[in-house]
Amino acid sequence: MTATRWLAEYAWLPDHAEPTPDVLMEAVDGRITTVAPLTAGRPTAGVEVLGDAVRLPGLTLPGLANAHSHAFHRALRGRTHAGRGNFWTWRDGMYGVAQRLDPDSYLALARAAYAEMALAGVTCVGEFHYLHHGPNGTPYDDPNAMSAALVEAAAQAGIRITLLDTCYLTATVDGAPLAGPQRRFGDGDALRWADRVSGFSPAGHARVGAAIHSVRAVPAEQLATVAGWADRRGAALHVHLSEQPAENDACRAVHGRTPTRLLADHGVLGPAVTAVHATHPTGADVALLGESRTGVCLCPTTERDLADGIGPVRRMVEAGSPLSLGSDSHAVIDLFEEARAVELDERLRTRRRGHFSAVDLLAAATTGGHAALGWADAGRLAVGDRADLVTVRLDTARTAGVPPVGAFFAATAADVSSVVVDGRQVVRDGVHLTVDVPAELRDAIAAVSGG
Ligand SMILES: [Zn+2]
Repeated sequence: MTATRWLAEYAWLPDHAEPTPDVLMEAVDGRITTVAPLTAGRPTAGVEVLGDAVRLPGLTLPGLANAHSHAFHRALRGRTHAGRGNFWTWRDGMYGVAQRLDPDSYLALARAAYAEMALAGVTCVGEFHYLHHGPNGTPYDDPNAMSAALVEAAAQAGIRITLLDTCYLTATVDGAPLAGPQRRFGDGDALRWADRVSGFSPAGHARVGAAIHSVRAVPAEQLATVAGWADRRGAALHVHLSEQPAENDACRAVHGRTPTRLLADHGVLGPAVTAVHATHPTGADVALLGESRTGVCLCPTTERDLADGIGPVRRMVEAGSPLSLGSDSHAVIDLFEEARAVELDERLRTRRRGHFSAVDLLAAATTGGHAALGWADAGRLAVGDRADLVTVRLDTARTAGVPPVGAFFAATAADVSSVVVDGRQVVRDGVHLTVDVPAELRDAIAAVSGG
């Protein structure tokens, strides 16, 4: 048991309105054992030797959690902007990539995408995974081969993963069968989905959670099967919710109620549940989500990319929903950008400033995301928590002269210089230690992009 020590120029400690200068931290076996602010360069108590501490110039944050990812969407970045289109035409392009992936090519693509996340300070990803089966929906010999590829990809990229195994059974709210590329997503029914997922139990850096793709993809009478599976295991449960007005309209037409009301009526909502997007909820939906303490995961860079709209985030938080963040389609992988967009989008809508403090945004990117993914022991620089340390330089062209408290409004993923995950160094001097990220992204995307 050797201790690793770091001396952060600034560290953002729990319950502090702004970063603290000169903080000594120590970890043993991947857990933080000491957090000691220095006074006049000396430890305040109990810490004697500074000589072996790794210096972390800049601002050190807890690990960032990317609570909503579809790793293969990374292959679409920059390729969907010709012409106009909308969410639905974008989705057709996404299906083209989905058709070409197999466990080997997905491992390569996800490893590169997750390594890009590591470079951006992400220490844990929530992978909302529905590309389960082979072409035409035929299961692989190992029916969880694609899940295993994603878990292995996270290990090779040096980050933790919650594999949110997604139940995806129908194409529309009124139950049209899966067709074409969607056939790879389907398990037939929720019981068979549960059977398959129950056979997959990775350990260590990975956990398994559940997801309901959306009310389009899981028939109402099968929602409780998925929710029950997650509940019995104490697993996280995520669901795409009201990303598009068309989903609300279709749900009202078929079920006579909103998607949120439908989930509530089938016992899906609750504190272990995260609604992803929640861009178009009604006032009653906001109350249902908040009263049940259902979390909300915003993905602002994707929502803007897909012209989804702006969710009523301030109202949802005030109603009681904890907030987390995701890069979703990976048009951008930058949790700083996601975080400040929560505040900046609200400014655009209200024409007023000051809806979320820097501490609120930090919480959404760290504790909020980790909690939504089932890692309650991560996201804080505190004794007993996982030793995830993300250091942002304060001397780059973007951050020079910025006070540490202002980092969330100035820094980008490119300013992350050092990343430690569970006590292990993954990124140093802005370079991933085991993955050549640009080269691997280029090759993995070329292999699946179809020319
Ligand atoms: Zn999504």
